[in-house]
Amino acid sequence: MSGHQGIVVEGTGGVWLVRATDGTQVNAALAGRLKQEERSKIKLAVGDHVTVEPEETGQGWRITEIATRGNVLARREPGGRYGERVLAANIDQVLVVFAIAKPEPHIRMIDRFLVVCESNELKPHLVINKVELAESESVVDALAKPYEMAGYPVHRTSVPRGDGLEELRSVLHGKVTAVTGPSGVGKSSLLNRLHPGLNLRIGEISESVNKGRHTTVGAKLIPLPDGADGYLVDTPGLREVGMWGLPSGALDLCFPEFGPYLGECKFQDCAHDIEPSCAVRAALSKGVLNRGRYESYIKLLGELQDSEKTR
Ligand code: GDP
Ligand code: ZN
Repeated sequence: MSGHQGIVVEGTGGVWLVRATDGTQVNAALAGRLKQEERSKIKLAVGDHVTVEPEETGQGWRITEIATRGNVLARREPGGRYGERVLAANIDQVLVVFAIAKPEPHIRMIDRFLVVCESNELKPHLVINKVELAESESVVDALAKPYEMAGYPVHRTSVPRGDGLEELRSVLHGKVTAVTGPSGVGKSSLLNRLHPGLNLRIGEISESVNKGRHTTVGAKLIPLPDGADGYLVDTPGLREVGMWGLPSGALDLCFPEFGPYLGECKFQDCAHDIEPSCAVRAALSKGVLNRGRYESYIKLLGELQDSEKTR
């Protein structure tokens, strides 16, 4: 008989908590054969889809297969050693949450979050919360526009007024979602409002998202309560994951709206900064690309180039 399918929801090595679609959970260790492989190739992580089978002794379970992965969320080993640690695998999407006011949105920071998502092959959704605090709808639209033009889904939400909550609920449905954004923008309020059963556990999410974790505690998948299908990823902040490993020459690929111009510059390795006959800058002067997004690009480019020089 073949084994049972499940998803790894917790564990940092040794014993893993595996959850089946029907909600049953078992503790399982890697089968000996996979342990060998793990040393040389992939390390099992939260979010991996696995097959578990009962031990021959009838006591406990073992993981006999690991399905091919999609993306991974990885970071530098604690202590800054070179090498990466996979925190979670197969993350379907990231909610990058900001508020229209209290606190004021910080454009450079939004763009940085989006680049971190892009460089890790994570699919971001922008959530603009507290929209009832905006003077008018056009203030919200002005913030949203460059991101919508770049092709990102943008969700306008308000916890007290209820705007966008059903839309956000359907975004979470059936997906593995990481939630990030600065402190105080309403991440916990939104998630609790959508899924009241999360209650205290949300504290963990906010805590880790805001402050990061400097310990070796791994990520965790939190099943959406109330019978909802889907998971939230409780991970150290994306900021900590950072742009690590991204070559400066690949930064332009992390701005999807630059895409149509990238092959059109005079120099193949154009950084779209001071080079002549740059198609990105031409699009900028025509007003087809957004100035603020371009300025974020230049700022992040400088950071990446500096870190390449010091390496
Ligand atoms: P987190 O740090 O991102 O998890 O933010 P919290 O959920 O703790 O919310 C921070 C503050 O913003 C709390 O006082 C919430 O009541 C408030 N808040 C959350 N969502 C909204 C909203 O849509 N509108 C307004 N006006 N306040 C909100
Ligand atoms: Zn260029």
